[in-house]
Amino acid sequence: MSELFNVADIFGENVFNDTVMKERLPKNVYKNLKLAMEGVKELSLSDADVIANAIKDWAIEKGATHYTHWFQPLTGTTAEKHDSFISAPNENGKVLMEFSGKELIKGEPDASSFPSGGLRATFEARGYTAWDCTSPAFVREDAAGATLCIPTAFCSYTGEALDQKTPLLRSMDAINAQALRILRLFGNTTSKKVTPSVGAEQEYFIVDREKYLQRKDLIFSGRTLFGAMPPKGQELDDHYFGAIRERIAAFMKDVNKELWKLGVSAKTQHNEVAPAQHELAPIYAQCNIATDNNQLTMEVLKKVAFRHGLVCLLHEKPFAGVNGSGKHNNWSITTDDGINLLDPGKTPHENIQFLLVLGAVMKAVDTHADLLRESASCVGNDHRLGANEAPPAVISMFLGEQLEDVVMQLIDKGDATSSIQKGKLKTGASTLPDFAKDATDRNRTSPFAFTGNKFEFRMVGSSDSIAPANVVLNTIVAQSFKEISDELEGAENFDIACHDMIKKLFTDHHRIVFNGNGYTDEWIEEAKRRGLPNIPSMVDAIPALVTPKAVSLFEEFGVFTETELKSRAEIKYEAYAKAINIEAKAMIDIAGKQIIPAVISYTTELANSVLAVKEAGADASTQADLLNEITGCLKDMKTGLIKLTKAVDEAPAITGIAEQARFFRDTVKTAMEELRAPADKLEMIVDKDFWPFPSYGDLMFEV
Ligand code: ADP
Ligand code: MG
Repeated sequence: MSELFNVADIFGENVFNDTVMKERLPKNVYKNLKLAMEGVKELSLSDADVIANAIKDWAIEKGATHYTHWFQPLTGTTAEKHDSFISAPNENGKVLMEFSGKELIKGEPDASSFPSGGLRATFEARGYTAWDCTSPAFVREDAAGATLCIPTAFCSYTGEALDQKTPLLRSMDAINAQALRILRLFGNTTSKKVTPSVGAEQEYFIVDREKYLQRKDLIFSGRTLFGAMPPKGQELDDHYFGAIRERIAAFMKDVNKELWKLGVSAKTQHNEVAPAQHELAPIYAQCNIATDNNQLTMEVLKKVAFRHGLVCLLHEKPFAGVNGSGKHNNWSITTDDGINLLDPGKTPHENIQFLLVLGAVMKAVDTHADLLRESASCVGNDHRLGANEAPPAVISMFLGEQLEDVVMQLIDKGDATSSIQKGKLKTGASTLPDFAKDATDRNRTSPFAFTGNKFEFRMVGSSDSIAPANVVLNTIVAQSFKEISDELEGAENFDIACHDMIKKLFTDHHRIVFNGNGYTDEWIEEAKRRGLPNIPSMVDAIPALVTPKAVSLFEEFGVFTETELKSRAEIKYEAYAKAINIEAKAMIDIAGKQIIPAVISYTTELANSVLAVKEAGADASTQADLLNEITGCLKDMKTGLIKLTKAVDEAPAITGIAEQARFFRDTVKTAMEELRAPADKLEMIVDKDFWPFPSYGDLMFEV
């Protein structure tokens, strides 16, 4: 019988949350901390000392011996450096447990090994971590014991952002300021703060650890670099929402427990489309916290899988020919007093504020589609976006029938006078209840879909941070809000000016709306006619970061400087080149040391069999044909191996990081595919006992 626990008891037990703060901090310090969290007033060092002491005592009661500034450098994962609480021993040889306000607020990790995209070469080698008091500290338990983790931002000596969190916080400031202007236009004087709300649905694969350890490709690159499709793939759709297997259920239960203790509100879990693929979704939270929580979720998934003899694959495309994994970034804008600016209400045609906000989002997404696309680019995602898989690489918006109808009324007639109402869903059985239907069906093929009271951006890769996508969303919508407010604040007749503005926004940016099937070739053609960008790969997406349009957008709102943008572009090119280089080298290794020798052994056995059968006076032509087929593929593999090795050797000589990345995509990747094709063919015909590692079938169906 597995251990039972009460969720309400354990939820947030390892988080220094509001309840604990209230309990443990003097009233005035608590009040000052809240003001600091709202960005109203900076915290004094003496208050920080009091808070640090309270956090330390609380963490020590939870068994913590160390603390760490937990941050998100541009490597895609989180980083930390652990310090223990102990002070220097006193004259009696005793140590005290200490933690000062200074240590809470600022850290100085050795920054030199984190990517900086040239920022450090031109500036300083130093990097600082700075406490983000808006995201709560937590205690993490693992084999090393318990550690107090303090969410921090990571900046260079001169204040350039070297991480994901800093620009995210800046973008939240931007949308807060501009969204408040919109609210004030409509007479709202009570809302004090506007914050993006985000819920990130996380997809992942689970495989058996023993099998994983036999696959060097998975170990080195996180995805299979060879592998023939099993006789059964996902064509039966029987895995989707299928019953969860025992072993996976035990794993998920543990994941939930760990996450709940950390205050991550893991809510839903189910099997996904592909075999061995699953999804976990939390309840949405404030953007910055949702981003931290998603990083924690990925950490916990990996750690708990390990404990269960499993491995969690977060790669976007662990298996060719099978659905990949992504992250749906659900995004809305909410006020401190609970108003969701994206809630259309029952009669959207009468909700002028909503229509204006909708128009602002349309304008933002249409104007900056290239940036939004870039924000979801990572090496693994190239196997999904634009590669015949969900979602397409062209950014478009799905509004659904009801909103599309309102938008068209305004464009065509100049006025919207009605909203299509939702009907009842008749179940047809007297014992089943009839449901009130949603006003709009879902469209699973759209990269940016309106889903009731939020937008769902579905392009982000499963292994990637959701921060860049939200930085872009927050900033581009802030810009729309600003331009709209600039005009409407000066209007003589607000009602008329606002009506005209909505009509203009809808008319000018309607080309971004597409409610059809985003997977078809017709849509790609149609998108081209509409002038929408189609950016199929990461290397082609990166330049969007440094266009004059992007630089002026991000500088206007203080989210990135031009230098920071350039450094980010460079880091991404470098990440691309490095990742493909690792994949190519792993392939060379696996092909040369595992597959080719295995196939040679098999051909030797087959050749002996041909001779023996012939000697016995029987027809050995089938064996001989097979032998010929295999040696043909073997030859192709050898040719492919030579070509790939040559390409990898040539790469370092190419000057310019962008050029190098392009070389990896065009030349190295192509050579990788040419090596893989004959190997996968061989896997189908060589005796399984000879094949050097577990097959797709073994990995996906035997968990
Ligand atoms: P699905 O897309 O699978 O149907 P849901 O609609 O339940 O799932 O929500 C998916 C995610 O969106 C969840 O993380 C949920 O908390 C989040 N979400 C729901 N409402 C909002 C909102 N107003 N703003 C941001 N995220 C939201
Ligand atoms: Mg979803």
